[in-house]
Amino acid sequence: MVHVAERTTRIEPTASSVATQRARQLREQGHDIIALTQGEPDFDTPDHVNEAALNAMRSGQTHYTPVGGTPQMIDAIRTKFRRDNSLDYATDQVMACNGGKQVIYNALMSTVEPGDEVILLAPYWVAYADMTRFADGVPVMLECHEDLGFKVTPEQLETAISPRTRWLFLNSPNNPAGSIYSKDELRALAEVLNRHQRVLVMSDDIYEHIIFDGRSFVTMAEAAPELFDRTLTVNGVSKAYAMTGWRIGICGGPAKLIKTMSKLQNQSTGNPCSISQAAAVAAFMGSQAIVVERTAEFQRRRDRIVEMLNEISGLTCRPPEGAFYAYPNCAGLIGRKSPGGKVMESDRDVMIYLMEQGGVGVVHGEAYGLSPHIRLSFAASMEDLEEACKRIRAACQALA
Ligand code: PLP
Repeated sequence: MVHVAERTTRIEPTASSVATQRARQLREQGHDIIALTQGEPDFDTPDHVNEAALNAMRSGQTHYTPVGGTPQMIDAIRTKFRRDNSLDYATDQVMACNGGKQVIYNALMSTVEPGDEVILLAPYWVAYADMTRFADGVPVMLECHEDLGFKVTPEQLETAISPRTRWLFLNSPNNPAGSIYSKDELRALAEVLNRHQRVLVMSDDIYEHIIFDGRSFVTMAEAAPELFDRTLTVNGVSKAYAMTGWRIGICGGPAKLIKTMSKLQNQSTGNPCSISQAAAVAAFMGSQAIVVERTAEFQRRRDRIVEMLNEISGLTCRPPEGAFYAYPNCAGLIGRKSPGGKVMESDRDVMIYLMEQGGVGVVHGEAYGLSPHIRLSFAASMEDLEEACKRIRAACQALA
């Protein structure tokens, strides 16, 4: 018998990977499933990035590197933060990790004491809660109302902060709801945080470049320079440059935190892949034109999917302002009965029904802490999106 440590029982595989796996299984059994479950661009990594990786391999850049990244990687991170966010980090204030996910993991494991609270704004990316629990912390969920654009108010934040609060997590544009905080909104939250010096801010900006309707992006340390010394600004190459498999995340923050995170990374994974670092340097330093082109394509799909979802009786969908997910409210389906006699009691039931009977893989809102919703990724072809919405419409019509 294998003993598994208690801490591993506090976490679950992410809902999106479970749903993707289920869609794969159903396909293998001969079902025709369109999976809109995954959080990754359907585009390929740009050619010049692939070239940089090939050059790195051919020129022998295949050895261990400094734990937090090669000198070129560190330079590229600093340049990116200066260029895109007007943030001036010193070399000991930045590092590269194996994905944005490891940045967040390293940060929580480096700072959270047993019982420390981590404020999560629901809907939130599902991994935050599990990682917090794994780090012995306590997630404190704040529900952000749909009619307030899925954003937290300063009053709500004030009431959630306690003497045990260690972190506030911000994620703009947000996965799964696509909401974006303006500079003024961030400043209003900063005024609350100015009264609570102990609280650190995790600014997860991984969807920074996927932003619609000409909006502009601001990150917390830029909007509120007084928080620079207690904000970890998180980013990466996965979403902007279609590089999910390369596993490079980056961050900028207080030198003491970065040093501790590097120590932890040194004793766990070591440096991120040397070849991926060379590729990420090319992504950050090369032409950014492709990011703009792809965002325009995401916006086209956003417009179409939102239009189609809003034509379905039982669903209402606010247009996301960024990222590549639609997060329609499915309250109108709750209480209705499937042809097989199953009553939809929750968004989990809706997710199962759409997957098993409707032929469309989605993720249930419960996984993101705000129900009743479903999340659909529009990082898929327009044809797939149109067909998926047709199927969802038919499945919803079949509910009595
Ligand atoms: N943050 C958010 C909100 C995400 O949705 C994701 C990926 O889905 C990540 C961070 C981590 O991305 P990666 O580890 O690929 O850099």
